Amino acid sequence: MTDWSTLTDACGTAEHVPSLLDRFEADPNGVRSEVMDHLCPQLDTAFPASYEALPRLAQIASACGPEDLTSVLLAAGAIAACSPGLSEPDSPLTVYSAPIGVLHMLTDRHLRRAVEAGEYVDLLQSLLSFEGAEIWDRCLDGLHSGEYEVVCPHCGVNMFIVLGQDGYFCCTDDYALGEVEKSPLQPVRAQDLTGLPRRLFTRAVADGQEELAHGIPYLFGRTACPDCGTDFSVAERVVAGWTL
Ligand SMILES: [Zn+2]
Repeated sequence: MTDWSTLTDACGTAEHVPSLLDRFEADPNGVRSEVMDHLCPQLDTAFPASYEALPRLAQIASACGPEDLTSVLLAAGAIAACSPGLSEPDSPLTVYSAPIGVLHMLTDRHLRRAVEAGEYVDLLQSLLSFEGAEIWDRCLDGLHSGEYEVVCPHCGVNMFIVLGQDGYFCCTDDYALGEVEKSPLQPVRAQDLTGLPRRLFTRAVADGQEELAHGIPYLFGRTACPDCGTDFSVAERVVAGWTL
């Protein structure tokens, strides 16, 4: 049995976490933000009690209906995303591999049902978090919002990578304000995608998320800085921005 009083969450002692999780089980959509405040504030910090909650979260997810499942999977996914990687000794991803395996299986299944693109991307990120993926489990939302902000590797200017509603291009100024100089994005040919990008593309197509899928070859393609002309990999700059 877990002695929760010896563990901590964002607010101090984790004694109250079992009752919080009871309330979460009864009303996942209603209690999710409270759970996040305690176990994963700002979606970027987890605590010993957060990882210790994963077995219970896997149980709750296994038992709850499809209308509540997204809330439970995203809560668990946010915690998993904070975990030190699989290569770290005693990584929570290893210690809690059994419940994480259940959460991964449920997310994999639930993804196919997600209709709304924002929910789909969030669940896809959770799926990657449960696998221990680095960075891309937090950086896919630009495929849905249609925008990434990156820095030129040569001249250091801030740039927008725009995917979707207004086209596929790179620019240095606010493109919503009108005429700006745009560098076109050069997508990878779909048949040349490999590794994670290929898997994301194939999966999004299979799940009927055509618009998201369409952005993936651009995200993993190349473009040039509108100011200095330096050619660069879009995905490499997204990763560089995250790891700064
Ligand atoms: Zn530049």
